[in-house]
Amino acid sequence: MPNTPKLVEVFKEVRELLSRRENDFTWSSWEGEADAVREVDSILDQLQVGRAFDPRLLQVLFAPTGPIQEVSLSSGWGQEFIVLANRFDEALESESQCACTATPQSNLTALKELGLDDRFGEATILHCPVCHQIWLRYHYENEAFAKSGRWFLGAISPSQLAGLSATNARATLEKLDWYFFGGSYFEGKSGKSSGMIP
Ligand SMILES: [Zn+2]
Repeated sequence: MPNTPKLVEVFKEVRELLSRRENDFTWSSWEGEADAVREVDSILDQLQVGRAFDPRLLQVLFAPTGPIQEVSLSSGWGQEFIVLANRFDEALESESQCACTATPQSNLTALKELGLDDRFGEATILHCPVCHQIWLRYHYENEAFAKSGRWFLGAISPSQLAGLSATNARATLEKLDWYFFGGSYFEGKSGKSSGMIP
């Protein structure tokens, strides 16, 4: 979930760099050091109280030719900026990683039952209440055979959702980079896999 500690670290270092006495703010959108530090401080305040923020507002600051890079280039710490910008990207990326992509979550809510496919496998569309990722679950079990129960759960995009039906649910999962699997068919094991669905 939120990698706020990493972001806070990055912004504290940005604050230090922007507070350097020899900085030149001419080409940045900031009027000067006080203005820049005030903006960074208000971001740090929000991060530290755990307030939700729009990542795009932070990305603007770190963008190429954004205000921090402009100051860094006119002030001789352009290299340090690039290292810091990479760490910022990393921290922000881990920000978007929800627990539901690490292990199947029990709090996923069913949006729609798609029904059964030709072998009576059951397809359901689910929704993560935390990150709003859409998931496709496919469950198959042949009651005539012990240990035949198996389920598959894959994260799908809005465009994949648009054409989805019980008939193509299995094929949709097979095209994904990965999906979760589990059930008695796998001896109770579960994990991530990809490719053909048995
Ligand atoms: Zn999620």
